[in-house]
Amino acid sequence: MSTTEPIVRFVGIGKTYDGVSRVVDKLDLDIERGEFLTLLGPSGSGKTTTLMLLAGFETPTAGEILLEGKPLSRVPPYQRNIGMVFQNYALFPHMSIAENIGFPLSVRGVAGADIAKRVERALDMVQLSGFGHRRPSQLSGGQQQRVAVARALVFEPKLILMDEPLGALDKQLREQMQLEIRRLHQRLGVTMVYVTHDQSEALTMSDRIAVFHRGSIQQLDKPEPMYEYPKNAFVARFIGENNRLEGTLESVRDDRCTIHVAIGDSRIEGTLVEPVPNGGAVTVSLRPERVQIRDSGHTIDGHSGCQLPGLLQEIIYLGDHVRARVVMAGTHEFMVKRPISEAHTLPRIGSPVEVFWAPEHCRAFARES
Ligand code: ADP
Ligand code: MG
Repeated sequence: MSTTEPIVRFVGIGKTYDGVSRVVDKLDLDIERGEFLTLLGPSGSGKTTTLMLLAGFETPTAGEILLEGKPLSRVPPYQRNIGMVFQNYALFPHMSIAENIGFPLSVRGVAGADIAKRVERALDMVQLSGFGHRRPSQLSGGQQQRVAVARALVFEPKLILMDEPLGALDKQLREQMQLEIRRLHQRLGVTMVYVTHDQSEALTMSDRIAVFHRGSIQQLDKPEPMYEYPKNAFVARFIGENNRLEGTLESVRDDRCTIHVAIGDSRIEGTLVEPVPNGGAVTVSLRPERVQIRDSGHTIDGHSGCQLPGLLQEIIYLGDHVRARVVMAGTHEFMVKRPISEAHTLPRIGSPVEVFWAPEHCRAFARES
């Protein structure tokens, strides 16, 4: 078997619980050996179901999942050698931490002395050496979650699945645990499949992200291209901040296009990301950090299709950057995000301004149905 073969392959996987709605729909996905892959999507998009199918707690209604090239359909969960961590850490309250971590080993019939050694090692990996004799109730939420991770690691699975494992923790602890899990992944080289609905968590932790919507993958990419080059309006909306404009496609040349937007009967230029017929409905997305702002008196090229007029309503100071809120045509809000070093160059609040951008940052998508 070649080492470049994906560790997991979903081939045409479908799942319905009620025979009608397809919770997972024609899913094809290759998971690379050793990668940190995140399934990201809103609630109900089919992420947990996809993990459960891989773990073996649910059965696909179509397709086949391969683990190291072997079909999984007849392999029960406990023989798949997959570690799991859930949101509610599900530690046994009456057992010590060491017993909790050793549990997957004792059910697999590993000898007692060997269990003790491996539990020690797992505790060390999650920086909880010396906590083995305590009960779960004597640990903080973050420590309990680390125990859950140790329990998933202890039998040295090839694959670890985590379903919103940090959802119950407060922001600070969550961010600390994100980095810890990431480091653990790098140190162990184990393949991790991680579920979250939090886009910043996905961007922070992942080698690759699969964005889920209605049971199918909208885009599978590394964090940077996912953020910079979303492939459709859903992904653009779900990841990062957007200024969105609804419009109609007027013409296309190569990948550049002209869009009519309702704001003051304007025409703007952008990059057409996916095929749309002329006259078709498009959604334009502009990241706040890709937009600049200037006094309308200083317009350099009055004909450029990469600007829109508005009124500067508010400047919000955020320490490391500033946000300028611009209102267009009296109704439409536009957010501009600039580094703090540019704060003193911003026009005055209340003045007429122009927001402007480079055409490659103005991305036009087919409007979502
Ligand atoms: P996510 O984890 O992305 O929030 P889920 O995979 O949990 O999504 O759920 C996807 C859809 O499947 C939802 O509409 C949910 O209500 C439905 N669903 C999940 N589990 C079951 C189940 N055991 N029985 C029936 N419907 C389910
Ligand atoms: Mg879920």
